[in-house]
Amino acid sequence: MTLMDETIKALSKPPLEREDDMSKEMAYMAKCKCGGMVAAVMDIPNHKADTAKEVAECIEAGYTVERVDSEEVRTAEWCECKAIDSAEEKVG
Ligand SMILES: [Zn+2]
Repeated sequence: MTLMDETIKALSKPPLEREDDMSKEMAYMAKCKCGGMVAAVMDIPNHKADTAKEVAECIEAGYTVERVDSEEVRTAEWCECKAIDSAEEKVG
């Protein structure tokens, strides 16, 4: 089983906080070791496979991926340590 398969499987599980999720947009935020955001992927139900692929790429690139309120993405601090490599282009 590949990382992408595992990620798709994980993302396909219904979130526990389903009712809360319906009221706001959610996103997957990839964080650098420094704590800054390096990439963000909107969690669009109809695009589950694409989302999973991008999340898998972020994980593969060594970033921590968290599922967050999309508002958190808008206000997040971007990575400033310049540790960004090709992963940025992949998920951009
Ligand atoms: Zn950084």
